[in-house]
Amino acid sequence: MELERRYDVLVAGGGVAGVAAALEAARGGMRTALVEKTIQLGGLATSGLIDVYLPLCDGNGTQVTFGIAEELLHASIRYGPGTIPPAWRRERDAREPARYRVKFSPAAFALALDELVVEAGVELWLDTLICLPVADGGRVAGLEVETKSGRGLLRARCVVDATGDADVSHRCGAPCALGSNWLTIWAIQARLERAQQAAPTAPAPPSTTASAWAATTRAAERPTPGPGTAPTPRTSPSSPSAAASCSPTTTRPSTPTAARPNATTSSPSPSPRWPSIAPRAASAARPP
Ligand SMILES: Cc1cc2nc3c(=O)[nH]c(=O)nc-3n(C[C@H](O)[C@H](O)[C@H](O)COP(=O)(O)OP(=O)(O)OC[C@H]3O[C@@H](n4cnc5c(N)ncnc54)[C@H](O)[C@@H]3O)c2cc1C
Repeated sequence: MELERRYDVLVAGGGVAGVAAALEAARGGMRTALVEKTIQLGGLATSGLIDVYLPLCDGNGTQVTFGIAEELLHASIRYGPGTIPPAWRRERDAREPARYRVKFSPAAFALALDELVVEAGVELWLDTLICLPVADGGRVAGLEVETKSGRGLLRARCVVDATGDADVSHRCGAPCALGSNWLTIWAIQARLERAQQAAPTAPAPPSTTASAWAATTRAAERPTPGPGTAPTPRTSPSSPSAAASCSPTTTRPSTPTAARPNATTSSPSPSPRWPSIAPRAASAARPP
């Protein structure tokens, strides 16, 4: 392939998890590349406009998360609005108890992430879609990517899957679960009973969006027999966000092969069919 590069560490996906992985690798002296399909870093936190950096403390005044997570919290407000709560500043003002969290501007956070990554010496591949993992002797040896300049092959001793949906792992045939994630606090808080408690006493006219939503939710709450009615148990590692596939010493001399279903020498997938990334259907799974 015309466009071909070699790295020590190749991070797939430039969300906050991918940025953290790339920073750590580059600062540790690894030749590192970060591949992101959009044109900015941050993933859900920036492109997804999720503008609250959740607390680094336990709610009882003790900080429980440190390191790059804290560095990124500070970076999120470096070039935009948002302030560190007084209780968590250097001159800690405990009279104003507040969680160690901030609200930030996604655009400003994206700029700061870019700066951090470039400063650390990470090679940044923006607007670059990861198409296929490249397998070599049962391990991920690189990624085939589509760039504005055409198809490319990025090889690495270690590939980190930080695509948010375990796309690389899935395409390698690793067991993954697909379904609604009802284990999030947002899902639990969004249960129908809570919505009913918060609703005004007078019923809304049937044509409103809220009524339509409630009707849909009620329908979804009815137990439906058959597959897809219950949350699928996760069979892959508990956090797919940054699953690493690393084998620095055992690279074989053979030419890596794109891990397509017919690639008899290399695909670790137990499935004979190439798993497609299809649009995800809304599940009728009931929240816990
Ligand atoms: C509805 C909702 C609300 C939330 N609210 C909050 C909140 O208020 N505060 C908070 O702190 N957290 C919140 N979270 C959680 C937080 O957003 C996520 O935990 C976090 O953003 C996950 O980061 P990530 O890097 O693992 O994944 P992502 O942010 O999903 O990043 C994955 C990156 O990989 C890239 N990518 C994927 N596939 C490819 C490919 N094939 N090729 C190239 N690039 C690819 C994507 O473009 C993306 O940039 C919320 C999550 C959700 C869903």
